[in-house]
Formats: sequence, C-alpha cells, structure tokens
Amino acid sequence: MRERRIALLGATGSIGRQALEVIAASPGLSVCAIASGTRPIDGLAANFDVEHAQVGGDVVELLERAEPDLVLNAIVGFAGIGATLWALEHGVSLALANKESLVAAGDLALDAWKRGGGLLLPVDSEHSALFQCLDGHGPGSVDSVVLTASGGPFRNHTPDELEHVTVEEALAHPTWSMGPKITVDSATLANKGLELIEAHFLFGLDYDRIEVVVHPTSVVHALVRLRDGAALAHLGYPDMRVPISYALTYPERRATPVPGLDFSAGLQLEFEPPDLERFPLLRLAREAGERGGTFPCAYNAANEVAVAAFLDGSIRFLDIAALVADALDATDGAPVTHLAGLMTADGEARRLAAGRVAAAR
Ligand code: NDP
Ligand code: MG
Repeated sequence: MRERRIALLGATGSIGRQALEVIAASPGLSVCAIASGTRPIDGLAANFDVEHAQVGGDVVELLERAEPDLVLNAIVGFAGIGATLWALEHGVSLALANKESLVAAGDLALDAWKRGGGLLLPVDSEHSALFQCLDGHGPGSVDSVVLTASGGPFRNHTPDELEHVTVEEALAHPTWSMGPKITVDSATLANKGLELIEAHFLFGLDYDRIEVVVHPTSVVHALVRLRDGAALAHLGYPDMRVPISYALTYPERRATPVPGLDFSAGLQLEFEPPDLERFPLLRLAREAGERGGTFPCAYNAANEVAVAAFLDGSIRFLDIAALVADALDATDGAPVTHLAGLMTADGEARRLAAGRVAAAR
C-alpha cells in the first residue's frame, strides 16, 4: 500500500485512541494531523510525529493545511459536520465514525460526495459490516439490510424501572466500550435510530428496506437479505479496531489483535424485535428519516442537547425521548440546500430542547 497520510479528528476519544493503536501497528499509515475538542494533545502529536495538531478551533482550516489522503472523522456530534462535508467535497477519502454529521446533513453530504467522487468508508461497525456484505451485490439482488442492536443495559427494564435509571447505569454498556454520548444513545436506542438514517444515506436504501433487530451479544454486526432468501451476515467479537482498521487500510485487510471466533467457548446468537414502546427514540428516528428534509437534523440536535442534560443530571432518562419528540413536533422540517440553512435548523432544535431542559430543572 502506498503511504497513507491520515488526519485523525477526535484523537483523544474512544475511536481516536483505538485508531492510533491501529495506525501504530500498521506500516504505511501515518498521521499528518490530529485534533481534539478541549483535551491537550501535545503528547500524542509528539508520539506520532504529527506536523499539524489542534485543540478546538476550525478543523476545516486544519485539513486544508495538512492535505491528508484520508480523514478519520471521530469527532462526536454535529461538531463533526465541517470535516465530513470538506472531505466529501474535495474527494478526500473519508473514514466516517461521526454518524451525527451524515444524519443531520444527509442530502448535503450526498451532493458533496457526488461532486467530490472520493471514498466514503463507514467506521460504525454495523455499516462497515453492511459495506462488506453488500460488496458485489447490485441493487437488484438485495432485498433489505438488517442492523443489529445490543439492546443496551436496559433491554429488560420495565417502563417503571426506566423512570429511575441513573447516569452510571446508562454508562455501563453490556458489550461495547465507547464515549459517553454514544453509550447513552445505545441505552435509549437513539444510536440505532441514528444508524438507521446513516444506513439510508450510505447505501441509498428506502427505510422500509432497513430493519433493526436486537441481538444482545453483538457478535453479528449486520446482515444483508438477498432476493433468493439467502442472508449474508458479518460476525466477530465486538471490537472497534476491526472496522477502524478496515476503513484505514481499505481495500487491504490487515491483521488486528482481535481474536477470531472461538466456537469451543460457545456462541450465543439470539435475536428479538426491538420494543418501540419502551424505546421510542428508535421509532422517532424512523419517522424523522422517512419525513426527510431537516427532520433528521432536528432529531439529532435535540438528542444531543437532551443527552448532555441527562449526563449532567438536569433531566431524567425518559425525558430524553420526550424532549426529542417535542422538538420534532415543533419543527417544520423544511429541506435546505445550503449549510447555512442546516445550521439554522440545528440551532432552532437546540434552542427548543434547551428551553425544555431549563423548564425541567
Ligand atoms: P468520545 O467522546 O470518546 O470522543 C469524542 C472525540 O471528539 C474527542 O476526541 C473529543 O475531544 C473530540 N471532539 C469533540 N468536539 C470536538 C470539536 N469541536 N473539534 C474537534 N474535536 C472534537 O466519542 P467516541 O470516540 O465514542 O465517538 C466518536 C464518534 O464515533 C461519535 O460520532 C460516535 O457516534 C461514533 N462511533 C463511536 C463508536 C465507539 O465505539 N466509540 C462506535 C461507532 C461510532 P476532547 O477529548 O477534547 O473532548
Ligand atoms: Mg454502531
């Protein structure tokens, strides 16, 4: 593989740190730029001999200076939007962990991708799995795709128990170790809702062809149902170093420290439908996705505000879904053709959600 210079955005996070581990073990990959939001990164920059490092500020300026071959966008939340649109517009390979940007800006991102013509490589494990299972199968042979969800720590909680869950409990994910925002999203199933919309934009599939199923052990990452009744599944122990490595070295496949499946230890492959009553954020995401326009942007914005408020103790777990539902009710969801319009839609949903948080205090 030709030397690949990577811009790693969100270097101090869960994905960022695992990406640095993958890069350190993978000849031919180097880091030309790193960015974090607020945490210092001097040490990382020195260890990886990085020329361009930035804490906070405009990551697009950083990307323009660094001229990377590939951008790994591992920023959390809507803050990742500039980097996603920049890479897609400029035809620079984009390894995308930051699902929120694709959810919020799906139509703008697809237009930019079309103009730029570069690679868009999913890092999210389910989408990486689908990307691999769909390879070689034209739209005519694919019936639908299936995203698996662990179900989170509250899979078996009653509505009454859900009323009283704590931040600490929400942060104890049963199968994945991740940053706080996505861990809470996994507990509410908003993460699977965001992933549903992410899959729609990544693979050009209508929502009625994207199914979600709960699979508590997270060994099957996704499935593709083919027309003839066959289904292709992607399996492996839940470890993000695999999809990160795949995206960074694509189309090569490098060794990782992750062991292969061990059948002697037994393998539990159980599936059940998600409960949309107890976890309404999945239903709301599907509705927002189907309505299109800026509804997904409003869903994401309100969810970000609500999750931050839950994490700082301002609202309760079930308030997250209520707040997102309110924000969706209050938005007109009108489509936008420019980033400025999207920023306005995002800002309005945030203001509305913040108002509800203040009222709940
Ligand atoms: P973390 O919270 O662990 O890390 C977030 C990173 O983003 C940190 O490095 C943070 O910097 C940085 N950041 C935040 N705001 C900015 C900003 N304005 N400019 C530059 N950097 C910023 O999150 P995760 O690593 O868990 O998740 C990152 C993304 O990947 C999310 O979109 C998530 O949904 C997605 N993802 C994560 C998975 C996982 O296993 N963790 C799995 C699949 C997808 P600082 O440290 O300074 O705050
Ligand atoms: Mg995922």
